[in-house]
Amino acid sequence: MRVAFIGLGDIGRLMAAHLARDPFDLIVWNRTAAKADAFGRDHKARIAPTAGEAVRNADVVITCLPSSVEVEAVLHGESGILESLRKGAVLIDCTSGDPPTSRSIAAELRARGVDFIDAPVSGGTTAARSGSLTVMWGGDAAVFERVRPVVEAFGKKIVHAGPVGSGDALKAVNNALLAVHILSTAEDLAVLVKAGVDPKVALEVINASSGRSNSSENLIPQRVLTRAFPRTFRLALLEKDIGIAAVLAEDLNARTPVISLAAQRFHEAREKLGEEADHVEAVKMVEEENGIEIR
Ligand code: NDP
Repeated sequence: MRVAFIGLGDIGRLMAAHLARDPFDLIVWNRTAAKADAFGRDHKARIAPTAGEAVRNADVVITCLPSSVEVEAVLHGESGILESLRKGAVLIDCTSGDPPTSRSIAAELRARGVDFIDAPVSGGTTAARSGSLTVMWGGDAAVFERVRPVVEAFGKKIVHAGPVGSGDALKAVNNALLAVHILSTAEDLAVLVKAGVDPKVALEVINASSGRSNSSENLIPQRVLTRAFPRTFRLALLEKDIGIAAVLAEDLNARTPVISLAAQRFHEAREKLGEEADHVEAVKMVEEENGIEIR
């Protein structure tokens, strides 16, 4: 099966690595050519000079870009792939995108005989490396069955969320929860540090109690207490995700003040910490405001 992979970023390159082997015939393209060249040196993959060349003969095209804005740009931009996609191909968009844009892309592609699946992933770079991502997909079941082996190469828990756009909606809401958990756990630990409780002791109790989450069990112990703050998932991307969740809620007239507040706080964190900061660094904003460190 000929697979084209577009977007070799923090997570994309780890996902693409699972497709650089039989029975797949992989070709990759990345905007910054040096990243594609580095990928080609380490993996069995061809490097395309342009995105159009990458998709020209592909049965399956995977995009893994920051947001739906960049997916649109890769489709329609100056050297856009729209004209190069072959009839009968399937575009699997693993970007954490936004539902309305995915629906409009799906309709445009359908008119050209190309199918579209939105298939955002979860589990971070660790699950991407081990090929055990959670994949939540939206679209037609018969189309998905044609491309299932491709998704199974990097996904473990693979769930049909509903029609096109449903994967994006589920992903945005999951990440809104992640954002809320990071902020609320940081705030709670800041209070406890001020109260004189050792944050390691606090987490030992919280993680054996009802307040625990992935943030308290993994992110804060591994990245904040150690002061390591590795860059695995940019804060800017989490801000984008919670923004998608907030817009989704607004469009559906759902009352979600907690999501709105977390969206506002992540916006502040992005302004303060910049485009390259990791998502867990939002904790630094809470620390600074409270004049403490969680360590
Ligand atoms: P990165 O920011 O690390 O990488 C983004 C990729 O998109 C790069 O290959 C970049 O190319 C490319 N790109 C950006 N803008 C354009 C453009 N205008 N045209 C063409 N290519 C472009 O993102 P991640 O890999 O971390 O994330 C990708 C998607 O996966 C996002 O939607 C994110 O929310 C989601 N995700 C990420 C996770 C993670 O742990 N990192 C976890 C789960 C989901 P270049 O190299 O030139 O900059």
